[in-house]
Amino acid sequence: MTITKYECDDCMKDFLKQLPKCEHHVHLEGTLEPNLLFKLAKRNHITLPSNFPKTEEECRERYNNFADLQDFLDHYYIGMSVLIKEQDFYDLAMSYFKKAHDDGCLHSEVFFDPQGHLERSIELKTVVSGFHKACIDANKKFGTTNKLIMCLLRHLPSSDGLKVIQDSKKYYQNNIIHGLGLDSSEKPFPPRLFENCYNLIHKEFPNVGLTAHAGEEGNYKYVEDSLNLLKVTRIDHGVNSKQSKKLMERLAKDQTLLTICPLSNVKLQVVKDVSELPISLFFNKNIPFSINSDDPAYFGGYILENYIAVHESFGFGVKEWKQISLNGINGSWCSEDRKKELRNKVDEVCEKFGKLISI
Ligand SMILES: [Zn+2]
Repeated sequence: MTITKYECDDCMKDFLKQLPKCEHHVHLEGTLEPNLLFKLAKRNHITLPSNFPKTEEECRERYNNFADLQDFLDHYYIGMSVLIKEQDFYDLAMSYFKKAHDDGCLHSEVFFDPQGHLERSIELKTVVSGFHKACIDANKKFGTTNKLIMCLLRHLPSSDGLKVIQDSKKYYQNNIIHGLGLDSSEKPFPPRLFENCYNLIHKEFPNVGLTAHAGEEGNYKYVEDSLNLLKVTRIDHGVNSKQSKKLMERLAKDQTLLTICPLSNVKLQVVKDVSELPISLFFNKNIPFSINSDDPAYFGGYILENYIAVHESFGFGVKEWKQISLNGINGSWCSEDRKKELRNKVDEVCEKFGKLISI
């Protein structure tokens, strides 16, 4: 029997949906869909600036035309202003967890930007409680496991970062926040500016996971400096690591996970097309990476759409996808027991589809 390309593609999409996925690079504030944004603006009596899109359709139009990372961020911070109460943060996170679950994502490590809320006089407690409650309820409802990673905004001074770390110590102590990250505009704010923040958290909580956005718009040195100065064990984006052979060898040797965001990279003009990303290069060099949605409400796709975009550009088969999925599990900050559970599910799905898909 010959399988038509259409049937094969359909089967492949079904496989990618069922393949157990882990997401390591998604900003909860970046999952704010226009319908929830306008709903919360109304609920909280927020008047959005006059140049902000007025309808969901106008939002979509705006989202299709970001000039670069900064243009997106300018819009993103205005969108955030509708998040006021604990319930708002809960609703936002729950809507993401549901979408991720529908996409076959079984474990998520999600970013949030406390400083973006603190500077609007929203208390840290309000933000963390809402997100934490959603993590617990998503686990009960969907069986997914979820962890919170607090990110520092690199356009703010590190003294501000140190303060938010001090204020969040109790959440790290109580295993409510599990990691520290660094996001926002990359190029003007190199990793060395935040060495003191990372030192502080590492000294007090050596088991907390450390990661940083690096090598998205900045060059490979931003990745090297994040590894050397911030002592991160994971790199968010990291696509510009391709510029240095030595760095790629190091990433492969240490099995440092890169959290790649294909559709985001296209939307923010890092590359013109997903096919330009160094995904095959990293795969062939044994550099582990996961595939993620970054700010899916703004960039046109959640985790599954990102997997499909990679498949359409690189045409990996079951064997390669199995490896990508296992690399994501291995690089996750969940328990060994949970990793074992996820690996078993990967085996099951790959065995089932291995018989159906011959590429
Ligand atoms: Zn990001």
